[in-house]
Amino acid sequence: MSGKVHSVFGALVGINILIIVNQSEYIALFVPVYIIGALMPDIDMTKSTLGKLLYPISYPISKIFGHRTITHSFLGLIIFNVLLGVMFDSIVKTQYINSYIIRYTHFHFSVGYLTHLFSDMLTYQGVPLFYPIKKSFNIAKINSKKAPDKTITSIITMLIILTLVFR
Ligand SMILES: [Zn+2]
Repeated sequence: MSGKVHSVFGALVGINILIIVNQSEYIALFVPVYIIGALMPDIDMTKSTLGKLLYPISYPISKIFGHRTITHSFLGLIIFNVLLGVMFDSIVKTQYINSYIIRYTHFHFSVGYLTHLFSDMLTYQGVPLFYPIKKSFNIAKINSKKAPDKTITSIITMLIILTLVFR
């Protein structure tokens, strides 16, 4: 599935969660976090959206692990959360960001990440959720190369607009 599908699906889930938990004033802040989370697993491909942007990171991951391995697992999700924590602790001066935002960034990033794993599980290749155990899990058998990405992106975008209009 394309980066566009993953982005809009992550955004749709994120917007709905923020509305359900009465945090819709944070939509503009956290929806980008959902989108980054939803794009992150495909950093194992140099030609993916984030892979192109973060080539010095995506290149070694793609060479060492290959596509749909560690980044498409719970282990990958834990590693990215650790890196996120390190980033908050060291690079970003935490006195400028309150602990509420840090805590919820981990949560929203993780849910965005899981929307990616979920949508890849709709394809017949599935994802190795418990990597390094290699068994792949899937809940449907869509051929991701034949998936009508533009149509899916349009439908999800319409759902986002409807959600924002009728919330
Ligand atoms: Zn993927």
